[in-house]
Amino acid sequence: MMFPWHKKASDKLEKMIEQNHLPHALLITGVEKIGKFNFTQNLIKKLVCSNSSCNQCELCTALNNDDPLLELDHSVLIRRSHYPNLIYCRTELNDSGSMSKDIRVDQIRAFCESLGKTAETLQIGVIFYADQMNNNAANSLLKTLEEPRKNTLIILLAHNIDRLPATILSRCQSVHINPSYENETAQWLANQIGEDTRADFDPMQLLDSAHGVPHKALDDLEGDFYFQYQSWQNLLLEIALSPTKIKNTEIFSDNELDVLKCLQHLINEGIKIKVLNHDGANLELNKVIEKTSFNHLFRLLDDTNRAISLSQTTVNIKLLLDNILVVWSHITNLSKYPAITNFQEH
Ligand SMILES: [Zn+2]
Repeated sequence: MMFPWHKKASDKLEKMIEQNHLPHALLITGVEKIGKFNFTQNLIKKLVCSNSSCNQCELCTALNNDDPLLELDHSVLIRRSHYPNLIYCRTELNDSGSMSKDIRVDQIRAFCESLGKTAETLQIGVIFYADQMNNNAANSLLKTLEEPRKNTLIILLAHNIDRLPATILSRCQSVHINPSYENETAQWLANQIGEDTRADFDPMQLLDSAHGVPHKALDDLEGDFYFQYQSWQNLLLEIALSPTKIKNTEIFSDNELDVLKCLQHLINEGIKIKVLNHDGANLELNKVIEKTSFNHLFRLLDDTNRAISLSQTTVNIKLLLDNILVVWSHITNLSKYPAITNFQEH
């Protein structure tokens, strides 16, 4: 089954297959939980099932039985699919029982060696996630990518292409799965939610708060993240409309990064509303945006993006969020945009 938000990326691949332009190495990218593994399985079915990915034949069934995420009872260099001509490479479970962070060079060597045998039928190797390969592993893979073999397809899955060496990128054709805010996706989400729950939620709003990633929206709903997110969003809007509300930000504590992402989303939505020059569904956001200049919105968006990327470092994220919130609390009546000082300290 294909998820509706996979359609564009899938169409692009379909065209490559039709025109016989499928490369030897394919890079499939997209944020966490967007469904890269499912997307890959559908592609492989298209390539190997003689009955247009029927989902019923022996090959399709074998592929459907694969879930390399769960087959972690023993440590192995590569994992074999239930379908004989397919192997997987991924981080392994280490002795202490936790997942190792890197894909190592011995794993990639075993992977390439296994694919290196000449074969009559298409041999497929999937690496997930390619952005977890350490330097030696990436170099080792590069050698294989430079000498493509007949009847071999290497599929690399990755969350973040910034972490992949340019040399690898230049050897792959890539397909990106975008987050989706389309009605079809919201409809899919609505169908996944029980009827009782459905009465309480607007699927589009759920999708919005999960940044367009439907499986994340479902996970959020299971926990209380969605409710938290809504309360952060409400408070952020209150702060912009009446600055004294900045005293109530204890609900942000320990969630600084998610609050920054929530603010980032609000500003992006705000910019959209202003560009289109008509009101959005969120009345409070409309009020804020009406009184705020484009220039200040873009400046604050820049600062928020920077704060989000700095959160990976040792920066004091509480302090950073506080400073951004001070600007946000005055965003509707700023005469001059202030420089946020603690960006420079790091
Ligand atoms: Zn089939």
